[in-house]
Amino acid sequence: MSATKSPNRPRTDKAANAAKTARADFEIHHQRIAPGKRQQIEIPVAKTYDHMDVTMPVEVVHGAHDGPVLFVTAAIHGDEINGVEIIRRLLGSRRINPRQLHGTLIAVPIVNVFGFNRQTRYLPDRRDLNRCFPGSATGSLAGQFAHILTSEIVAKATHGIDLHTGANHRTNLPQIRGCLDDPATAKLANAFNVPVIINSSLRDGSLRAVAMDRGIPMLVFEGGQAHRFEDKVIRTGLAGVLAVMETIGMLTPQAHKPLAEDHDMHVARFTKWVRAPQSGCLRIHKHSGAAVKKGDRLGTISDPFGHNKETVYANISGIIIGQSLLPLVNNGDALFHIAGFDDSDAVIDSIDLYDASLGVDQSPA
Ligand SMILES: [Zn+2]
Repeated sequence: MSATKSPNRPRTDKAANAAKTARADFEIHHQRIAPGKRQQIEIPVAKTYDHMDVTMPVEVVHGAHDGPVLFVTAAIHGDEINGVEIIRRLLGSRRINPRQLHGTLIAVPIVNVFGFNRQTRYLPDRRDLNRCFPGSATGSLAGQFAHILTSEIVAKATHGIDLHTGANHRTNLPQIRGCLDDPATAKLANAFNVPVIINSSLRDGSLRAVAMDRGIPMLVFEGGQAHRFEDKVIRTGLAGVLAVMETIGMLTPQAHKPLAEDHDMHVARFTKWVRAPQSGCLRIHKHSGAAVKKGDRLGTISDPFGHNKETVYANISGIIIGQSLLPLVNNGDALFHIAGFDDSDAVIDSIDLYDASLGVDQSPA
């Protein structure tokens, strides 16, 4: 693991040269990457039924200068692919130059290669990889896979960002989830610079839980829906990752940031799902990103003839941060995810400002 040093610390040329020569290669899966180089490697994770190797592709950008080791992962849920495109754009960015980078970037665009190739969230054994960490070398397929990610990636990192979307047929307002009680994680969450932050408790077996166990501050970015590349979400995620890299000293801050800096970030006090009061066909009246008051009409469920109508009401006041997009619902299905804030209007103002800075019309389709 590389030592973390402040890039701003003044040094003499002699000291800087000494530090440069002393910087070690980055070792991952029996390979060594020299400082100032980038390299793609394939980490074997399993074999298929016909004995073909299944590998997880990783790109390491090992900066010429000392600094943090940041992993950025996507598609732990194989159908959540906005993050795959975020990482492609990140690696293609002119800003990711190994000769200038402080520290090391470990980019894993497709963690769950099984699910990605089959366009599904899960592994072939129907397990959710993000409930199987830290895993074990002698465990199930999911356990072994989680163990490889833990030992090859997480164990070598000082910081992490895991990119997600809503589950199948659901969409999430771009948001950061993290354990904000940890000051280092709170600093990353603020750096990511999206208007909505959820202070979420750790879920057993998640990548975030295993990172926190090892003292590695880590964020989860949630944005958009599964099975899609959504430009607004992708640009939001890319800007957030770059902003985190600036904040932890990996990149030199840009003089003119692409995003407006005068919006505020808002931490949700709590979140609550609204569930379907009956089975039927759902017509949606309110969309992700809308401010709602307790008792507002969010949707209507009826039979296919339009009879037996039931209205779906907001159960708290707040902002819709996630919703189901599937109009066919069963009684009890989770339909709308609402986050409560101290001042919903201020959140909406911040979302508008943020979207304006992205050049995106945020009004619902
Ligand atoms: Zn996910």
